[in-house]
Amino acid sequence: MNFRSLTLGLALGSTALAPAWAGPGDAPAGRYLVRDVTVVPVDTDEVLAHRNVLIEDGRIVRIAPAGQRLRADAAQVVDGRGKYLVPGFVDAHVHIATEGAIRDSKDPAINGLDLGDGHDYDRQAMLAFLKAGVTGAANLGGSAGSDDDLLRLRGEIDAGREIGPKLYVGKRINGPRAAVAVRPDGKPVPASRPEAPTTAADGIAAVRRARERGYDFIKPYQFLNRQTYLAVVEEARRQGFVTTGHLPELGCASCADRAFAFAHPMTNIAHSEELARFARIGSDLAPAEIEALAQAVADSGASVTPTLVTLRTIVAMYVQREVPAVPDGWQDTVDPVTRLDWTPPANRYLSQAFRDQEGADRFSAGYDFARVLTRALWKRGVPLTVGTDAALPGLAFGVSVRQEMIELREIGLSPLEVLRAASLNAHRLFDPQAGSGAVREGERANLVLLDADPLADIHNVGKVAGVFAQGRWLSIAQIDRQLAQGEAFERGLQRQIERRKADAAKQVAQ
Ligand SMILES: [Zn+2]
Repeated sequence: MNFRSLTLGLALGSTALAPAWAGPGDAPAGRYLVRDVTVVPVDTDEVLAHRNVLIEDGRIVRIAPAGQRLRADAAQVVDGRGKYLVPGFVDAHVHIATEGAIRDSKDPAINGLDLGDGHDYDRQAMLAFLKAGVTGAANLGGSAGSDDDLLRLRGEIDAGREIGPKLYVGKRINGPRAAVAVRPDGKPVPASRPEAPTTAADGIAAVRRARERGYDFIKPYQFLNRQTYLAVVEEARRQGFVTTGHLPELGCASCADRAFAFAHPMTNIAHSEELARFARIGSDLAPAEIEALAQAVADSGASVTPTLVTLRTIVAMYVQREVPAVPDGWQDTVDPVTRLDWTPPANRYLSQAFRDQEGADRFSAGYDFARVLTRALWKRGVPLTVGTDAALPGLAFGVSVRQEMIELREIGLSPLEVLRAASLNAHRLFDPQAGSGAVREGERANLVLLDADPLADIHNVGKVAGVFAQGRWLSIAQIDRQLAQGEAFERGLQRQIERRKADAAKQVAQ
């Protein structure tokens, strides 16, 4: 059924039952009236109680006092009484599990799995984000097939044919590790090519290819040598690309050094942990060094995605030798392929090789360092965003954003500052032309409706009543129903994996 064909002649104070939403691609980005809601715009410290919010064709067109008459013909009414309308959250650092990644997988238990032709696998991931109120997600690089898949999916979502968060697809550009080896093993560095550049020319070519392919931003990675790192960052800037990535490796003849990296900064640093290499400290926290480092970041103009929950999760795997439990109610959102990735031997964080790494005994101190440093960055006004590195083992899509928001609250950010990090700061980073991301007239309707006040307690971001994803309303019940419909597909995937494992075991036995 199409809402647009209905005219309910709705005025304020009236209620109307909207027709049930029929499925992906079928929900209208039409007209909605959120009635008598508390609006938390987030761009100021205002809290606007008792407001009616009219949403039309993906935008917030009107925010008016609830007592005022508002023409809202044919709008679906969403009851906002006792609820809070906040900007949708953005995961600023995620690696989305896609069908393309499954096709590219070298794991015999995964490669060639029958995924059907309905894109159910990708849809389940998209729904998990929406379930947590995540209406934007920046993918920081994947396999070639995965990037293809995400570029396709981004277009489908933008066109309203699929539901999901607004996707920002990043191209990872990295050189061969041997090009920046601190202790070279004598083997020749592979010849430069745009796929693994060691020259400025190939770095520039890689950025230009990313532009042609339609990527949204560039993720420089840490094994770029000095000249290539510089060429990538500068060409990206010339092309109007945002850069968010890893800081360059230090300590070799062809490496960048700390001063060089801060003199030619990326737009955003993808983890606070990355800065540990730049702190010139060992296992001890040196307060003066941390302050100097935070100041250097502030002076460089870069923003930071701390990903504290990522580090916390890695430390937990190291200390407890198991994957930390996904929060209650979210276990089923972790698909069978991802679950396999979280299990040894695929989960490298549980491997002996990981434990044997030099410095492994200092991982816990690394988490402390990242927290203290992130706090110092925040105190200097460095813009922070909320990123998770999901689906790294233990980190599920959507709910991990909530976990990272709590991490930021715990190091001192106010609930309002946490909401800003999760919304406005990410918009400013990835999509500044598309508006501020605040709950204001004229802004895009990427919104979360919460059952409780997030300013009173940041944990209330977990009480999602529903979301507006690019202007479409989806109640939590509708999202859960869609997720449940996809579970049969996932059980089928699980059976395929089990059959393959059984076949492999049989072959070993023979
Ligand atoms: Zn990452």
